Amino acid sequence: MPGPTNVPMEVLRAMNRPSTDVYAGELVGVTDSCIDDLKRVFRTSGSVYLFAANGHGAWEAAISNVLSRGEKALVLSSGIFARGWGEMGRKLGVEIEILDAGWGCAVDTRLVEERLQADRSGAIKAILVVQVDTGSSVVNDIPAIRRAIDAAQHDALLLVDTIASLATTPFEMDGWGVDVAVGASQKGLMMSPGLSFNAVSDKAHAAHATANLVTGYWDWTFRRGAQHYMKYCGTPPVHLVYGLRKSLDILLAEGLEAVFARHATLANAVRQAVAGWAAAGVMDFNVQEPSQRSNSVTTVTLKGFDPQPLLEFARAKCGIILGLDLSDRAERGFRIAHMGHVNAAMLLATLGVIETAMTFLDIPHGAGTRAAILSLASELKTSEVQRCAR
Ligand SMILES: *Cc1c(COP(=O)(O)O)cnc(C)c1O
Repeated sequence: MPGPTNVPMEVLRAMNRPSTDVYAGELVGVTDSCIDDLKRVFRTSGSVYLFAANGHGAWEAAISNVLSRGEKALVLSSGIFARGWGEMGRKLGVEIEILDAGWGCAVDTRLVEERLQADRSGAIKAILVVQVDTGSSVVNDIPAIRRAIDAAQHDALLLVDTIASLATTPFEMDGWGVDVAVGASQKGLMMSPGLSFNAVSDKAHAAHATANLVTGYWDWTFRRGAQHYMKYCGTPPVHLVYGLRKSLDILLAEGLEAVFARHATLANAVRQAVAGWAAAGVMDFNVQEPSQRSNSVTTVTLKGFDPQPLLEFARAKCGIILGLDLSDRAERGFRIAHMGHVNAAMLLATLGVIETAMTFLDIPHGAGTRAAILSLASELKTSEVQRCAR
């Protein structure tokens, strides 16, 4: 499933502990070390704020900390999640304009540049975009979007949702000029849901100083306070913090570059499987342009077949839960997650179950699992064996 993803045993064990002192002692240092290591993962020297909340909470935090009532944000949509984020802004009192690339296409940076060039008065204060849209499975080119903003000489803040791309796909907060990056614990970070993050640039902090949507709970300024409870605006989610500490340890021990390479290799194998199955004319990629397919999740469509019996077979008979189709199209499909705590064995099991389900249900398909095996074998020949063994 594309979130919450599998949680490693070591992470679960790290959370299995008695409650602890939240005013002083070990936990205070664990909080600080999590913040420091999240900066390494976001690749920023800016500030990181932790929220006892899911991704929607961190979305609201990002918007409410930098914008004022009636200001305008441009939402670059390529699936479902940017729209959802924009909708939260609208409810807060932000004027939302959507530039829609459609279901299954990356943001067209030429259109972004044109739109920003036309905004001579600088009415657009923030640009909201999702790096990996977990519904459509599109990956957006964030550096290219940054270049479009710069080419238009526009001053808007760049807010990026990395919830499904952090620790699966390269992300460079400072290098790419991102002002607020939003993350959450339960996708690439291999943790249970309940913690989410804002990574914040100096420019975003400057906007925060005058933003009037700031509320008590999400307020970055309060969370900079010296006392430990202020970092969480109340009781720390103790066990989640220990779990996050362990998941960061695991990720940094593997090394972020190796983590990205593992995701790329596994994603390639999934794409080979889908291409193999698709040869029979029923299954297809949701994202037609190969360079726009994410390394976190792959959305497929089925022509003339309801995916529900396939999902049900996989769940009830084989113990694997696949992602639902989140689109509003008539033609339904499903989603194969390949992010977080995932290795070659888990991936091959998933692909094998999908092929078993298609065989059981008489859904025409080509030799997808075989194609995935060949892809893995050839990639592992050219790299370290460790790459797919989380
Ligand atoms: C999962 C997800 C969200 C929503 O996160 P919740 O924890 O469910 O609130 C937002 N954006 C993206 C890209 C996601 O994958």
